[in-house]
Amino acid sequence: MDYRIIDAHLHPSSSYKPACIDNIDQVFEIMDDNGLDRICMQSVTMWYDWTFQLNPLLLLMKLLRPGRIYAFGGIRFPDPSESGKPFDYDKQARDLIAVGFDGIKLFAKPTVRRTFGESIDNPVFDKLYTWLNDTGTPIMYHIADPETFWDENLIPENFRARGWYYGGGSYPSQRQLFDETEAMLDRYPNLHVILPHFYFHSASLSRLAALLDQHPQLRIDCTPGIEMYYNFSQNIEAARMFFIRYSNRIHFGTDNFGCALGDELDYLSVAKETIRYVRDMLENRNATIYGEPQNGLALPEDVLRKIYAENFLDYLDGDPKLVSVKTAIELTRSCIERASMTEPAHDQLQFVLAKMEALI
Ligand SMILES: [Zn+2]
Repeated sequence: MDYRIIDAHLHPSSSYKPACIDNIDQVFEIMDDNGLDRICMQSVTMWYDWTFQLNPLLLLMKLLRPGRIYAFGGIRFPDPSESGKPFDYDKQARDLIAVGFDGIKLFAKPTVRRTFGESIDNPVFDKLYTWLNDTGTPIMYHIADPETFWDENLIPENFRARGWYYGGGSYPSQRQLFDETEAMLDRYPNLHVILPHFYFHSASLSRLAALLDQHPQLRIDCTPGIEMYYNFSQNIEAARMFFIRYSNRIHFGTDNFGCALGDELDYLSVAKETIRYVRDMLENRNATIYGEPQNGLALPEDVLRKIYAENFLDYLDGDPKLVSVKTAIELTRSCIERASMTEPAHDQLQFVLAKMEALI
């Protein structure tokens, strides 16, 4: 069966390494190689110096493939030493949407949440959430991480090596991050939030169901989350019922990305296998993940059509927003002024600017 597929969750490069101009062609290759009709790019900027290029890079992607690229802009955070003070989060969100971003990306991975120090429902974010709530602007909000990352016996070695073990030190618990999130959702009932990776609830589907029932605007995406599809496989009947019952609320995504600056990664093979196994799990009864047999969800065709494209189109009100070259150049120039000359972001921004100028 041929489905129209919108991959609603990609990044230019992995979220903890600098993105570069080559990522544009690489992500377009992933798109073409896998027959993706449209994609939605996510920008994780936070306070890091090496992320100034991200928002301009995504605007350039939208300019190069108009009508096929959605992008959620990243709000810059202040240095964590200033985290408790008022900041222009809401103005940034308004500016990003005005430039042509389709939504806002927010990011509360435990590492970031610990370093920044302020809770997800902290009053410093009130003006931002109020504006997002009142306008119904789509938000992709990464909250927490897989439950195994808090367990020293269960965390996969490659993730521990990245510093993503949260059992020691002063990391917030997964429960605390959920509590903060749900306090935010209670206070702002019209927030159009997409919680990626099944909100890391693939092993707690009844809790997730209750949350979705309580918050009709809420969406989730089925982007792995390496633990997710194994959890589904182990509890396949309940997982299948969940997907069917909430078939209007789930978006398709992969977290695929190109090769970060100075990195080597066979991004095409990685992306192909991720898309293959997620689709295999969604579509078939007998599926495999990296060669290992799993119980698949074997979802009905109408459910698959919704998850692959219709739900996202409905949530985003249709087509990707168009971007004007002139406005994109202005935003890029302002990022160049703020990026330090010694940071990789500076060079990458110059490349982005040159490509935008060539489009005039
Ligand atoms: Zn992601």
